[in-house]
Amino acid sequence: MTAELILGKEISQEIYGELEARIAALKEKGITPGLAVVLVGDDPASQTYVRMKGKMCQELGMHSDTIIMPGSTTQADLLARVDSLNKDPDIHGFLIQLPLPKHIDEQAVINAIDPSKDVDCFHPFNVGRMLVGDPEFLPATPAGVQQLLIRSGIETDGKHVVVVGRSNIVGKPMAAMMMQKAEGANSTVTVVHSRTKDIGSITRQADILIVAMGRAGFITPDMVKEGAVVIDVGTNHIPDPNSKKGTRLVGDVDDNVKEKASAMTPVPGGVGPMTICMLMSNTVHAAERTYERKCSQ
Ligand code: NAP
Repeated sequence: MTAELILGKEISQEIYGELEARIAALKEKGITPGLAVVLVGDDPASQTYVRMKGKMCQELGMHSDTIIMPGSTTQADLLARVDSLNKDPDIHGFLIQLPLPKHIDEQAVINAIDPSKDVDCFHPFNVGRMLVGDPEFLPATPAGVQQLLIRSGIETDGKHVVVVGRSNIVGKPMAAMMMQKAEGANSTVTVVHSRTKDIGSITRQADILIVAMGRAGFITPDMVKEGAVVIDVGTNHIPDPNSKKGTRLVGDVDDNVKEKASAMTPVPGGVGPMTICMLMSNTVHAAERTYERKCSQ
């Protein structure tokens, strides 16, 4: 069996088309959805992500603001910036690019974001709403994975989903979303992590295997059931003397798994393009909600 590829690049274009129509409708009402991204320090990977977010806002005709603060920024200064973004009427959603420098308490900064502008869906209020099945926003990467499943026509109802990884950004919300009574969910979910014994014995039970660990090629064919759907969230830069940069991007799933899976996401071009797409979608949603609130006043 050779896996059908689930192409996030194509599916994200479909969603961008839908967003363009929603943005045009907002603009007719005098609202331009606005996203701000705050970058503290000069981490090169974070700089790339921030640039990509700004560029996508521009392409969609959204307002974007990139705020770059030095690595020496104090927690008080960053909290003051969060406060001003909370009050900025042109900004419907904003995020603080993670990771933050070690001297800043990440959770304290996330807690200071107005939940109605928390388009990353990291604020405990939004995490709680997602968990009780009444989400305002969904976190971008897990939401992107769910859209890949829905839009590829992959049945999740009653399926055994195994999530590898339990981070607050991917693994935990992914597991919580897949167990909801909702479209693209209703699954039986198992989560494995670094303390799990004999991971392969569990991943082999997965109808849908979602991997978010940050370990290049960790999931090998012997860890996957014949015909499983495999979603690879991992992004790892490994040495490659044949590449100009000297490295290349690979996922957490070994390439040979595609001979066993029925469908699989490539890296790059799978989950990656969906993350920014869902962030844009959350920002448009935030702008729509702001308009609705204004109308009901
Ligand atoms: P993270 O915070 O480092 O979490 C990694 C998780 O994997 C942890 O729960 C860890 O277990 C588990 N893990 C690590 N090594 C393991 C092992 N040998 N056996 C079993 N479990 C293991 O990373 P993350 O933020 O979730 O991201 C995961 C990957 O996804 C990274 O490669 C990241 O770059 C990528 N990512 C991609 C996108 C995208 O848009 N494509 C977005 C977000 C993240 P413990 O909890 O026990 O330590």
